[in-house]
Amino acid sequence: LIEISNVSKFFGKHKALDDVSLTLQPGTVTVILGPSGSGKSTLLRAINHLERVDEGFIRIDGDYVGYRRKGDKLYELKENAILRQRINVGYVFQNFNLFPHLTVLENIIEAPVVHGIYSRAQAKEVAYQLLDTVGLRHKADAYPRHLSGGQQQRIAIARALALNPKVILFDEPTSALDPELVGEVLDVIKGLADLGVTLVVVTHEIGFAREAADQIVFMVDGQIVEQGNARQVLNHPQHHRTINFLNKVL
Ligand code: ATP
Ligand code: MG
Repeated sequence: LIEISNVSKFFGKHKALDDVSLTLQPGTVTVILGPSGSGKSTLLRAINHLERVDEGFIRIDGDYVGYRRKGDKLYELKENAILRQRINVGYVFQNFNLFPHLTVLENIIEAPVVHGIYSRAQAKEVAYQLLDTVGLRHKADAYPRHLSGGQQQRIAIARALALNPKVILFDEPTSALDPELVGEVLDVIKGLADLGVTLVVVTHEIGFAREAADQIVFMVDGQIVEQGNARQVLNHPQHHRTINFLNKVL
């Protein structure tokens, strides 16, 4: 269970997150929609403690992200404890961010081996299973530059899964792809929902939101202005900004 509780984040005077509260049930898909600059990426980064929040807190299965609690005070964790905590949170970026000098297989086993989660042999076994999950076992020995964008993104997803995270955050995972490659990546993401991983997906792909989201959240100016199931938010939006946004993208 992921709890985001009254989180605010300032960049100087600008309030990028404004009293955001949201609960993510295990094994569900949450899609975050909203215009540019509304705080979607900042929220994802906060779940990973890549951004320090100024107010409120985030907990994953009861653990404070980036902090430990003593009495009623929170103390920021040391860097190595933060890194250990980040193993629970997979992150898939817009631009894949694969290591160019490593093969597909090496990209996937790098983190689990470095973190001591698996031996090299175990990590390889897991990596091949994950390559099956994303349909790319035959590319194990290829280098990222020899893969299509969609294939690279599917490898990035396999790499995120290799750490067996509780949640995977996707920040516009298909926005750098040619249109004909979008579907294969979205299909892989949909498949993950069936594996029971908790997913948070920032995307402008309304069709994906409609099919895959258990919960849709609409953000404007750092606030959640609307939230509900796909049918509620997409078919019966209440807030005028949601209505305008959907009119533009649908
Ligand atoms: P987009 O759809 O364009 O990716 P977004 O919803 O992801 O937008 P964020 O990247 O979260 O928006 O940014 C929210 C606000 O915070 C924006 O006004 C942005 O300029 C500001 N912001 C984000 N990161 C920083 C930073 N490191 N320093 C200063 N301002 C920032
Ligand atoms: Mg963003």
